[in-house]
Amino acid sequence: MSQSLVTMSYIVATILFILSLSGLSNQETARRGNYFGILGMAIAIIATVMSGAVTSYAILGAALAVGGSVGLYAAKKVEMTQMPELVAIMHSLVGLAAMLVGYANFMDTSSHFTGAEKTIHEVEIYLGILIGAVTFSGSVIAFGKLSEKISGKPVLLPARHWLNLGLLILVIFIGKWFLSAAETGGGFFPLLLMTTLALAFGVHMVMAIGGADMPVVVSMLNSYSGWAASATGFMLNNDLLIVTGALVGSSGAILSYIMCRAMNRHFLSVIAGGFGTASGADAAVVEGEVQAISAEETAQLLLSSKNIMIIPGYGMAVAQAQHTVNEITKFLRDKGKKVGFGIHPVAGRMPGHMNVLLAEAKVPYDIVYEMDEINEDWDDVDVSIVIGANDIVNPSALDDPNSPIAGMPVLECWKGDTTIVMKRSMASGYAGVGNPLFVKENTRMLFGDANKMLQEVLKAVKS
Ligand code: NDP
Repeated sequence: MSQSLVTMSYIVATILFILSLSGLSNQETARRGNYFGILGMAIAIIATVMSGAVTSYAILGAALAVGGSVGLYAAKKVEMTQMPELVAIMHSLVGLAAMLVGYANFMDTSSHFTGAEKTIHEVEIYLGILIGAVTFSGSVIAFGKLSEKISGKPVLLPARHWLNLGLLILVIFIGKWFLSAAETGGGFFPLLLMTTLALAFGVHMVMAIGGADMPVVVSMLNSYSGWAASATGFMLNNDLLIVTGALVGSSGAILSYIMCRAMNRHFLSVIAGGFGTASGADAAVVEGEVQAISAEETAQLLLSSKNIMIIPGYGMAVAQAQHTVNEITKFLRDKGKKVGFGIHPVAGRMPGHMNVLLAEAKVPYDIVYEMDEINEDWDDVDVSIVIGANDIVNPSALDDPNSPIAGMPVLECWKGDTTIVMKRSMASGYAGVGNPLFVKENTRMLFGDANKMLQEVLKAVKS
């Protein structure tokens, strides 16, 4: 394939990636956005394979077969609730690839850069390995935390901010050392030293973040993986990789910012870590009387209400209750009731988690509202049903300045007439914080697996 055709294909792929991103920003166009992304990626792979840069088609074919099969298997096998872990581990692979490409470039003796070009090439290698190593180890820890293989509680080393600052200064000095050593054909040792420090920094950074701040970490690592890909693009002299990496890097950064704003947190204080540390006594304990309700009583309450708001959370995803929720919604709407869904920006375990589940169950988009849209209308709500949600409906975020989640905006469902909370026990949610909503006078607890209980409610409303 001629170079101009390759460039042309890269431009088309870039446009498709941009269209894909803009499509993904809206539920109704998300499917189309995905198709644009798939097409863009197919064009990118074919153009790269045909570009003449490939030295061994056998190795490339084997790599594509192995990578493609692992990807296909993982995507088919993964449960919706494990999606954030899958995303985290995928980010770690981008980081690892950037590191390996950096080392391969450093060891490659076939390139003969001189003068400023040589220095730029070495800076690219150094930064590529640096960003790649932080992304790799940080994502592995995020995977461990999200899959509960390691504790979600923040691990706070003494003087950790000084430690981070010290590491940054050290990395700059080692960079200078690497550049001067590379002049005389050396540089391997400083590169290795920096890699070790960068790996340790990634571990330290994510270990220090806990509780409800993980959504920001997931999108931040997404951003890092983009910059790592961009750095790889510079090393490989591949324009498409540079542009695609920049798209992922900047969209991940914007998402992190949006998430911080939604949680009323400062980005820097998230990165500094420590959020979610329970202070004093057991933060999960709440005092007061719990009022339980049965599925039949819930059905009666729903049938006598006009305006119903459903708040889905992580437990709905675990119970895979979205289809039963949709059936109940359809039934109640057919009876002339107003039913809406209130979505918190960090409900579940990944950005947009609830929207994906509701779309999968074919809940109409126009009855799905964002938190800000409904927080002013609770006075008109007769019944709200909280399905497997906890942190996102915790009043202590607003009432208790000492709460570990103080300041996080929540869905203020307790302002409606009655709230029914569906969960299996009084256990706390992801942030490990007790929830006074469960003992409020107008709250009723419907204990049990969300899907099982909703099926009982559905049976009762129908009879
Ligand atoms: P939470 O984790 O606060 O609470 C979920 C609740 O669901 C639990 O208290 C649990 O209670 C209940 N539950 C679990 N399984 C079932 C089941 N089978 N049936 C019924 N209930 C069940 O979830 P929220 O959605 O309220 O909040 C999300 C939290 O996750 C926030 O703290 C957020 O910061 C964090 N997070 C979000 C990410 C994102 O990007 N959205 C990423 C990473 C973290 P019980 O055990 O009693 O049943």
